[in-house]
Amino acid sequence: MRIGILGGGQLARMLGLGGIPIGAKFVTLDPAADACAAVVSEHITGNYGDISILERFASKVDVITYEFENVPAKSVKYLAEKKPVYPSPAALEVSCDRLKEKTLFRDLGIGTPNFSAVGNIYELKSAAREIGLPSVLKTRTLGYDGKGQAVLRAESDIEAAWERLGGVNCILEAFVPFTREISVIAVRSCTGEIIFYPVSENTHKNGILHKAVCTPDDPMQKAAEEYSRKLLEELDYVGVLALELFEANGKLLANEIAPRVHNTGHWSIEGANTSQFENHIRAVMGLPLGDTSPVEFSAMVNFIGEIPDASSVLSIKGAHFHDYGKEAKPGRKLGHATVRRPNKKFMLEGLNEVLALVN
Ligand code: AMP
Repeated sequence: MRIGILGGGQLARMLGLGGIPIGAKFVTLDPAADACAAVVSEHITGNYGDISILERFASKVDVITYEFENVPAKSVKYLAEKKPVYPSPAALEVSCDRLKEKTLFRDLGIGTPNFSAVGNIYELKSAAREIGLPSVLKTRTLGYDGKGQAVLRAESDIEAAWERLGGVNCILEAFVPFTREISVIAVRSCTGEIIFYPVSENTHKNGILHKAVCTPDDPMQKAAEEYSRKLLEELDYVGVLALELFEANGKLLANEIAPRVHNTGHWSIEGANTSQFENHIRAVMGLPLGDTSPVEFSAMVNFIGEIPDASSVLSIKGAHFHDYGKEAKPGRKLGHATVRRPNKKFMLEGLNEVLALVN
């Protein structure tokens, strides 16, 4: 089966690496000619809004998926008229707009920080009074890795934050004094089967994911699954869905969803019986899903801006090295390492050894 992927970055590359062994062939579409997924696909260089490019892309594939959520809705609708698109355009629409996303959480009874839509400075001032400070102002669309958001700590921060985010439609949400951030990765098949990976505990640095530690038997596993299941069923979802959550006062609050394979699930390449990448491809190909249970204990560390020497990482017992083949730039995700070891204490020691190699 030929699978079209919108986007040619590292997620598309790892989807290729996960899907090729089970018979998938890939066509990627990305504006960059040197997209790092081009090594696992027939790569088309072009814009997502170019109808003739979309036509060519669709003609080459049986089914279409995507590696990022900011694909223009119009283009996805156009493609969906030609070939099946998984996850559905409806899931994409919800996840690329923070207001629609949080409203869906609220409608489904999924706990989420108190929030309010903000369209101008007056609404922002009134929302700040209602929600209270500190709070977080986020652009409704195009925010990722901590971009498009500002923390408001005092009333005097309000105007500068509004200006800095460009005066666009936003949401203001309560600042959550969380004890930890976790995520659950789920997969739903075309027949409605749903399976979950063990949750991971995630740490961010400068708004970008720094490390994710898989926590089998996490006390919040069941609660996270319950939230995720509601979303998967409501959206009649096919593929991998990531749900990011805050834990505060022993309760979970949903922060956001990603309708795709997710950085907090990269540990699953070596740390689970079937990786999130293979399972996403299985789901979109209509194949049975694979076992998500963990193999030993594992954690993942991102390489941001610079990548350590492969031999230093690989000399650490149980460490696996992933280089995405991208040009180094500050703040750019260039690769990651997974550490997998038979017991938690030993794995955390290995994780510290990897962390000592990154800044
Ligand atoms: P996001 O782009 O929504 O994933 O946010 C990036 C990071 O900012 C999150 O992983 C949190 O560490 C932090 N953050 C986002 N929203 C909030 C919030 N409402 N309260 C506290 N921290 C937040």
